[in-house]
Amino acid sequence: MNTDFDTLYDRALGAYLGLAIGDALGATVEFMRPREIRAQYGEHRDIVGGGWLKLSRGQVTDDTTMSLALGEALLKIGGARLSGTAQAGEDDLADMTRTIADAFVVWLRGKPVDCGNTCRRGLQRYLADGSLCGTPNERDGGNGALMRNLPTVLALMHDDAALERLSLAQARITHHHPHSDAATAGLARLLARILTGASHDDCRNWVADWVREHPVFTFQPYPGHATAYVVDTVQTVLHHFITCPDFETALIATVNMGDDADTTGALVGMLAGALCGAHALPERWLGRLQRDVVLAITDQTSGLVAISRAGHELRQ
Ligand code: MG
Ligand code: MG
Repeated sequence: MNTDFDTLYDRALGAYLGLAIGDALGATVEFMRPREIRAQYGEHRDIVGGGWLKLSRGQVTDDTTMSLALGEALLKIGGARLSGTAQAGEDDLADMTRTIADAFVVWLRGKPVDCGNTCRRGLQRYLADGSLCGTPNERDGGNGALMRNLPTVLALMHDDAALERLSLAQARITHHHPHSDAATAGLARLLARILTGASHDDCRNWVADWVREHPVFTFQPYPGHATAYVVDTVQTVLHHFITCPDFETALIATVNMGDDADTTGALVGMLAGALCGAHALPERWLGRLQRDVVLAITDQTSGLVAISRAGHELRQ
């Protein structure tokens, strides 16, 4: 192990555990209005479970468990094939995407605590006709593809073309919408930059440029909607990630917006967790996460980062 690898691994683990922390923290207040949250909690700041899903303390939801399903599929595909994603023929890409779709089906059949309507509809379409991508659909503008894409970034962070291609392939299994595509590819590139050393200021500049290219996601001034519509989600996530000074402040401010709080929390936790690294995550939250989830995340992170590192060395 060398220091560079230790740092990269710490950032990657910070992103994945940060995602799970944001999911577990936000799920308690999912679908609540900020005013209701204030009346019930003052400020919601602890992982306590409950919420509309009646979760146990530290339990995560689909945001984390679908990510774990995707991560398992990527490890199954393996580094040798993943590192050829950018140049892969259509048949080969379809074969890799099928492995991912199959993992999502296994996830769905395991009776997850929740599953978004668009995800369910997409997986039912895949089961019915084997198609890996629906026709573009106005109703597919939710955040369900964006929320689970982290493992793709861990495996392909050093290869922009491969990262974009596989991010969109996994996304379109359930969501085929230009805003979902742009958000999934955009946040993948942002996370890859943080993992490879971008500072908070670098992120601010990169995000400003990205929003200029994709003005629908303009978040300054912050419109204040935290719904599962991918535009609202991205505005909420970028606003809090960019303007808050640290992981804890960003996460508390985000989840207290309510609405799709588990998903906005998960995505802010992913970005802010990558920036601070696993070693800096608050113990009072980390210690509350389900033990099997922490183990699965730790295990996957080492496998996925090893894939990205091997691919990077191969190209040098
Ligand atoms: Mg969820
Ligand atoms: Mg959600």
